[in-house]
This record gives sequence, structure tokens and C-alpha cells, in this order.
Amino acid sequence: MNAEIIAVGSELLLGQITNTNARFLSGQLALIGINVYYHTVVGDNATRFKHALEIAESRSDFIIITGGLGPTKDDLTKETVASHLGLPLESDENAMEQIELFFKRTKREMTENNRKQALILQGAQVLPNNHGMAPGMVVTKEDKLYMLLPGPPSELEPMFLTYGTAALVGRLSSQEQIVSRVLRFFGIGEALLENEIEDLIDNQSNPTIAPLAAEGEVTLRLTAKHSVISSAIELIDEMEEKILSRVGQYFYGYDEISLMDELAKLLKENKLTISCAESLTGGMFQEQFTSIPGAGGSLKGGVICYTNEVKANVLHVRKETIEHDGVVSRKCAAELAENVASLMNADIGISFTGVAGPDELEGKPVGTVYIGISVNGKPAAVEKLNLGGTRAANRIRTVKYGCYFLLK
Ligand code: ATP
Ligand code: MG
Repeated sequence: MNAEIIAVGSELLLGQITNTNARFLSGQLALIGINVYYHTVVGDNATRFKHALEIAESRSDFIIITGGLGPTKDDLTKETVASHLGLPLESDENAMEQIELFFKRTKREMTENNRKQALILQGAQVLPNNHGMAPGMVVTKEDKLYMLLPGPPSELEPMFLTYGTAALVGRLSSQEQIVSRVLRFFGIGEALLENEIEDLIDNQSNPTIAPLAAEGEVTLRLTAKHSVISSAIELIDEMEEKILSRVGQYFYGYDEISLMDELAKLLKENKLTISCAESLTGGMFQEQFTSIPGAGGSLKGGVICYTNEVKANVLHVRKETIEHDGVVSRKCAAELAENVASLMNADIGISFTGVAGPDELEGKPVGTVYIGISVNGKPAAVEKLNLGGTRAANRIRTVKYGCYFLLK
């Protein structure tokens, strides 16, 4: 079974909004083992939308349509699908009741337009909207399934998770069990990783291997199908073993886990405390660390040492280091890490100093970063990075590298 997504809305074509609905739906469909082969975006125009439907029907089993379920003139999804499939629109009692209640509760005047939102395609399964007024719906015709979802992500996402996936899974062969697992890598680029496992990717069938790169990380989603669930898991285990035998040194966790989660776990398990001197990251490391429930106990405290003054006066970086090597230097990172650990009486001190950008600093190019790590009062080990991205990306990656070096 394969699916395609048609997003309706002229704002999408005009570049005013991003098609995050397609991104969300594709991710969710992959999780239940449904291949998405096409994304289409079409404006609020009945003729062109019908054309998109015809093409979709010629090549996909599930046609998922988002947007245009609202009450206004430009919302023409239902009407167009109705006329395309030759199905009348009928008022749905439950939907009407929900809308009337909404207007009563908010003491607003209900217009004829709003009644339009209670209209559903004859014979459709209604997908209740718990976050807005327009219900979603599913109809099937000639072996094709059409799912209509509202445009606002705050309505579409919960609706799809609660009702949409079930409607689709119900249509999949009940013989088939689908298992998915995400492997997470850091410290290796997407191209390099894919190169290492090129033959596995080229010959993939069951499980499938889907690589994705984001924010300096690479993930591989393995999805296996089998009539017996334990056999599907075995297929994934085998493939994981093959992959990790080649690039295992970059692997750090499964599914939704983050590098920071892993770090927090490691520190807690080993009863280690940490402290942090943050220059270019401005507190980002500690913000992320403290947002993990239960991690707080491992973090003693830290200093945002953005200026040279604070580096010198609070963290006692030597004058000679600042004047001779500069603050973007191996020596400065080492002193920051060692001194913050002693100041905070922590087992580990970590420091971040570097050039986030957009301008260079001390003649050092954007993306030059030093991370110092001192453990148990020993002289710090310092890692140098050449990131060279945007300011935002450099800061995020610096924090991730900090976690990564600590985990190594
Ligand atoms: P409404 O009742 O709010 O009018 P609707 O189902 O008619 O909902 P649209 O009018 O197409 O949906 O879009 C409403 C809003 O939802 C858009 O302004 C936009 O913010 C968001 N939206 C629509 N389509 C998408 C999409 N594909 N990706 C992300 N956001 C979207
Ligand atoms: Mg609308």
C-alpha cells in the first residue's frame, strides 16, 4: 500500500507557509510502514485540485488531503472531492452539535457558513476534531481511500494520531506486522555514513533503511514487515548488527533519545557531577541539561562567561592566555574547564569557547570552537571544531559535540 499527500492552499504555493503537514504525515506514515511516494501542493482552485486528484488516483492507494475544510469561500476541498467522486454532502448530526455547542460556549453568532462545516461526504467515516470545528473524514471508492484533514497543524496532528492512523492501519493487510527502529549517529556526516553502508542501502528490501540528516545528526530508520512480530524484530536486529559493525563508533542511541539524554543518564549512573563554563553557547548546554526531568542533581552550576572580563575575573583565565593565545584557544578552553570545576566543586568541568559568527573573532574564522573537558581535577583535554555554519547551527552543534565528547 502506498500513499500520497495533497496539500491544498494558495499560501503554500506563495511561500507564505511551509508544508509542515506533509512532513508530519510522511513521518507518521513511515512509522506504520506505509510508503509515501508523492507530495503535491495545489492552490485553492477546484480545477487544478481535481487534476491533482486524478493523477493521485492513477498511482496511489491512499490519498491524504490536507487543508480547505474551513467555512470560507476559498475552502473548497469537500465540495471538490464530492463532485469529483460523485458523492453528495450531507449534514452530520454529531458535527453540527459540536459546532452549535462551540458557538453557545463562546457566545458568538453562528452563520450559515459555519453550518457548512458539518457537511460530510455521504458514507464517510468522520474523524472528530477535538481542537477545532471542521471534522476530518475518510471515504473509499474503487479501492482508493481518501482522507480529508483540516489545514491547521494543531488540529491535523492530534486528529491523525488519534483517529487517522487507525483508519489506515485497518486497511492494511492484517497479516502484516510492522516494526520500526531509529538508530542515531553523531560525529559522522550523512554522506560518509551512507558511503559506509552503501551496499546495504542499495540492496534494502526488508527491512528498509531510511537515512535522515538534521542538526548535525544522522538517523537511520529501519522498518521491517513480517507476519510474526518477533520475526520482524529479528530482521531489524540483524540489520542493526550489520550497520553497527561498520559505523558503531558513531552510534549513540535509539528512537527519540538525544545526546543530552544519554549524557544525563551516564552522569546519574556514575554519580558524577558536572559544571559548565559557556561562552558562545550562552547557557544553552545548561538549559538543555536542566530541561531533562531528574537530571538536575548532576549539574552543580555554571558560568556564562561571554565577556573576556568574566573569563578573567570570575573564572581566572590568565591574562597571558587572553593576551597571547586569545579567548578562542586551546589554552583558554582548558583553563575555563579546570577552573569552573574547581569553582563549582564538580567532578567534571566542561567549557565552550569559540566563534559563533557571523563575524570572525581574534582573526579566527566563524565556526572555530574549542571544548575543554576536565575530569577529577586533571588538566583538561581540549577538542577543536571547525564548524563554519550559521550562528544558530554553530551553537547547537557545539552543545551536541560537548555531549558527544563527554560520552566518549
Ligand atoms: P480553517 O478552518 O482554519 O480555515 P482549513 O482546513 O480550511 O482550516 P486552510 O484554510 O487550508 O485549512 O488552512 C488554515 C491554516 O492552516 C493556514 O493558514 C495555515 O496556517 C495552516 N496550514 C494549512 N495547510 C498547511 C500545511 N500543509 N502545512 C502547514 N500548515 C498548514
Ligand atoms: Mg480555511
